[in-house]
Amino acid sequence: AYLPTSRQEVLQDRLAHFGGNLRLTYDEPVMLVRGWRHHLFDEWGRPFLDAYNNVPHVGHAHPRIQAIATDQLGRVNTNTRYLHPAQTAFANKLQSKLPDPLQVCFFVNSGSEANELALRLARAHSGAKGIVTPDHGYHGNTTGAIDISAYKFNAPGGTGPSDWVELVEVADDYRGRFRRDDPERARKFANLVDPTIAALQAKGHGLAGFIAETFPSVGGQIIPPAGYLPAVYDKVRAAGGVCIADEVQTGLGRLGEHYFGFEQQGAVPDIVVLGKPIGNGHPIGVVVTTRAIADSFAQGPEFFSTFGGSTLSCRVGKEVLDIVDDEGLQDNAQRMGARLIDGLRQIERDFTCVGDVRGLGLFLGVELVNPDRSEATEICAYVKNRMRDHRILIGSEGPKDNILKIRPPLTIEAEDVDMILVTLRGILGEVGDYAPPATCDHTHHHGGCGCC
Ligand code: PMP
Repeated sequence: AYLPTSRQEVLQDRLAHFGGNLRLTYDEPVMLVRGWRHHLFDEWGRPFLDAYNNVPHVGHAHPRIQAIATDQLGRVNTNTRYLHPAQTAFANKLQSKLPDPLQVCFFVNSGSEANELALRLARAHSGAKGIVTPDHGYHGNTTGAIDISAYKFNAPGGTGPSDWVELVEVADDYRGRFRRDDPERARKFANLVDPTIAALQAKGHGLAGFIAETFPSVGGQIIPPAGYLPAVYDKVRAAGGVCIADEVQTGLGRLGEHYFGFEQQGAVPDIVVLGKPIGNGHPIGVVVTTRAIADSFAQGPEFFSTFGGSTLSCRVGKEVLDIVDDEGLQDNAQRMGARLIDGLRQIERDFTCVGDVRGLGLFLGVELVNPDRSEATEICAYVKNRMRDHRILIGSEGPKDNILKIRPPLTIEAEDVDMILVTLRGILGEVGDYAPPATCDHTHHHGGCGCC
């Protein structure tokens, strides 16, 4: 693709200095140099609607985040081996949002680190090693987090599964083995956990715990059927394991009706993992657990993170949570999410390639399918890139990368929602004229390509 000179130079430098397995989004990459609320601006000052990024939870370049970071950097920025009221203020604020048993906070620097620590906590408390986790999950880039991320270890060139990890089918009731016409599907999906626990026990690992993105995101923006998580948690606890909810993508009000995903399921985890949005761009990860689990972990060596829980991080983290409350952003996520899902459902009725629309609040997925219901991977890539041409940034997910992912900052407004809907409708209208890529191998049956 044609790229302006400055972008071409940055791209070339990047190719020279970055690893080849760091992907760019979009066929024609974007260069973004400014942000404001849910808008991004490229090097020519052209605006893009950010309908993808969950890190700028309260909006890009929020003035309160700028102000608090500037203020704290001008005072002191040090670690959790010293007392500071910002640390406890952040912990207290978090606790005010969480169910009572979740009382003890550990502050780290990323979602990966938080999941890594969650594994250690589960092992310390259970005395076992084995982990059960849904297929296609993602929990981070560190050695331990990769081991529980099928999305990575089962990718081409991945390290493959570890002996102490058992995968269970994702509770996807659109495409999985139990579908929405089956009223027993939540229980049936939960029952798939039984043989995985038995397998870990048979191998001598025992069960340390179960970890899942509460709503699997890279697995395809899945909302598990009601009752799934409580049934799984019962089984895991009965086997001596700990229940870990990775709320990195679903937490902090994004779902509108619920502050955390596990609330929607009516389940209370033993460990909650938070990341990305909690720092609004500043690197923060948090693990919150019960006093009993924290006490088991405290039998071992001291836990300390140099930057985790820094004075700056604690002030930024609490400010993000305060802004969500002060600006009514959870409520906005509910209203804008409802507007989006209504519009998407109308689009679903009008286009046969839209197989499913699902989500809650501002965590949404649009599954694109071929006439035979198979995954329309190429159409999805086409739509995502055409949306980018129209300067609307969305993503794609799923094992076959055929689910459009819409996950904007919580500041998005009705006009922006309408722009997404109108533009998406127009682009889906183009799919009838969709031309296959030159490399079409005539095996994907992507419908509308005219050749297979
Ligand atoms: N868990 C989930 C559900 C995530 O989506 C991510 C990041 N995409 C992580 C963990 C890892 O977080 P980080 O990249 O901050 O280490």
